[in-house]
Amino acid sequence: EVRSERDQIVELLTRSANYYKAQLKQSPRAVQYLKNRGLTGQIAARYGLGYAPDNYQNLESVVDDYASNALLDTAGLTKLSEQNSRRYDRFRDRVMFPIRNAKGQVIGFGGRVIEKAEPKYLNSPETPVFHKGHEVYGLFEARQAIHKKGYVLITEGYMDVVALAQWGFENAVATLGTAVTPDHVQKLFKQTDRLVFAFDGDGAGQKAAWRALQACLSHVNEVKRADFIFLPTEHDPDSYVRTEGPDGFEALVAKALSLSDYLLRQVGSQFQVQQVEGSSAAVAFLKPLVAQVQPSVFRSALVRSLADLLGMTPVELSSHLGLKRPVGE
Ligand code: ATP
Ligand code: MN
Ligand code: MN
Ligand code: MN
Repeated sequence: EVRSERDQIVELLTRSANYYKAQLKQSPRAVQYLKNRGLTGQIAARYGLGYAPDNYQNLESVVDDYASNALLDTAGLTKLSEQNSRRYDRFRDRVMFPIRNAKGQVIGFGGRVIEKAEPKYLNSPETPVFHKGHEVYGLFEARQAIHKKGYVLITEGYMDVVALAQWGFENAVATLGTAVTPDHVQKLFKQTDRLVFAFDGDGAGQKAAWRALQACLSHVNEVKRADFIFLPTEHDPDSYVRTEGPDGFEALVAKALSLSDYLLRQVGSQFQVQQVEGSSAAVAFLKPLVAQVQPSVFRSALVRSLADLLGMTPVELSSHLGLKRPVGE
């Protein structure tokens, strides 16, 4: 029987995930870490969390011949030492988050240090089965809850996903330390008509939200909507749900800012729209953004609101934005 390299890699990753899972049970320190972060064994099991012990060749136990198995490197599980070309594990002394694809197959890992050390998170590298820009952490686990709740929560981090699930928001996913791409957005809109972004309250999170808005522009319309939760500066979804509880977080979802309100707010705060210079600069800023929105009832309504903000008629603004189908009065 000839199996594809892909299948062989997935098998290595699956065996490793099972190994890490078993090791978590053997490590009171790692278990205590997860407990301290408010997680129960049930949620740990749901997400297949594990622990990579503090050894250089943990994965010797999952293959017959570790020393000569180059596929471990291809799978992103091991590396070769530059000094003596010896193979060693990439993940050591880390809490392990398996990343699954749509079929539920393990395609990579994220690993978090327990004590303070750098880097805080280590992800699998790009491999034949793992492509960061396309994958969304937690989507396989979240799918049912997304359909039940009617929206998906998009966060920055692994911990945000599992903490939200712990508190009843099993519809949460995370991008893998990368900016939200139009690819991600398309993938998520295949699951649901409502995306709710919940990034960290810090500057990085605010930047991520703006980039997410841009990634959404070509996909939103009167059916498919995107909303944005803005957390207090010191919080991320994990810390917020743990201090304010599920009702506190639910309240944030309920009053999330719509994409159009976010865009209007951004324009209103960046430009002095009452002035000639400000409103004309705002039009230049808006042109490439609105150009990405598909002609739709949504786009017409958006142009009308923007025109109102900028003190123009919708016809005028449409023409300045170069829209082929101008919005009437
Ligand atoms: P925690 O609550 O465990 O400290 P976090 O998810 O709040 O983690 P952030 O610093 O907010 O951590 O980072 C968000 C996400 O960005 C992480 O979950 C991880 O996916 C990614 N990330 C953070 N730091 C790194 C890093 N050093 N290398 C790679 N990815 C990282
Ligand atoms: Mn952050
Ligand atoms: Mn956090
Ligand atoms: Mn965070």
